[in-house]
Order: sequence, then C-alpha cells, then structure tokens
Amino acid sequence: MAKRKKKTPKKDKRKQEKIKANKVTVSTPKEDIKKELKISAIEEGTVIDHIPTDAAFKVVEILDLENHKGVVSIATNLQSKSIGKKGIVKVGGKGLTQEEVNKIAIVAPDATVNIIKNYDVKEKIKVRTPDVIDNVVKCSNPVCITNNEQIPTKFYVVKKDPLKIKCHYCERIMGKEDIEII
Ligand SMILES: [Zn+2]
Repeated sequence: MAKRKKKTPKKDKRKQEKIKANKVTVSTPKEDIKKELKISAIEEGTVIDHIPTDAAFKVVEILDLENHKGVVSIATNLQSKSIGKKGIVKVGGKGLTQEEVNKIAIVAPDATVNIIKNYDVKEKIKVRTPDVIDNVVKCSNPVCITNNEQIPTKFYVVKKDPLKIKCHYCERIMGKEDIEII
C-alpha cells in the first residue's frame, strides 16, 4: 500500500507538468492561433464553397484529390448563413472541367466554384444540377445492365431538390442517399 501511495503522486506530478506544457501553447497570442487555424489562401486554383458539410469528402472523391500533387485544404462544419453548416474545399494548381463541376452539383447543389488567380477570385461559378447525368453515378439496382455489362450509366434528373434521379436503363428511382459516385 505504501509503495502505491508513493507512486501515485509521481504520476500526478507528471500529468501536471504535461498540462503546463500545453498551456504554454494556448497562451500564445490569439492572433497567432487565428492565423494557424485559418485555411491558407491559394495563389492559383479553385475554391469550392457552400458544400453541404457531409458532402465535402464526396467532393474530394469526385475530384480525386487524394492523388492531387498541389495544396488541398478541406474544412467542414463551418457556419453558413445560407445552408447551415458548410464545407469548403480548396485546391491549389487545379482548374475544374465542366464535367467535374457537373459532378459536384450532384452532391452539392448550392456550391459555388471560385477560380483563383493571383490570390484573387477571378470568376465565381454557381453549379447547376444537370438534367442528364452521364457516367457519374452508379445504379443501385444490382440487376441493372450497367452493373453487369460495360455500359456507362445514364440518369435523368426527376427532381433537383432534394435530388431524385431515374436510371435510363432499369428506371430505378434513386434519392440523394442512394447516390454512389463512380
Ligand atoms: Zn439502372
């Protein structure tokens, strides 16, 4: 018992020291912390804003940013006046193709795509849900021909908000929650 008692205070001391060490970091000027937490601005590239927070990583997937060599910043759960909580994805050194913009519209119908040049927004594009979605979404019907033969998928947008799409081949209706990007 006596040994244990001796050991415990030592541990506590260590804990206290650790906490103290952390406190040093916290006590740096607020401005510095703000700078650190802020997503860094990009010189050239694309900023996709107003993404529903749960779709931010889908956008990352759509743009295949895991393999992107430039700077990629992802922020989620940011406050937004228009859509509640939002996500932002910043991609350095990359412009988007129309196809990529259309894909983003499927998971983030209110997104804005900002084209950045020289740290400035050169162009702001509001995404638009396309009427026809070609080869972007996987059909959720396992017996659909697109899941069994080498045929690109094709969907018609039945409703834009919330998104409802219909498979051209098997006529399966899919909602936002069924959508899996190819
Ligand atoms: Zn189908």
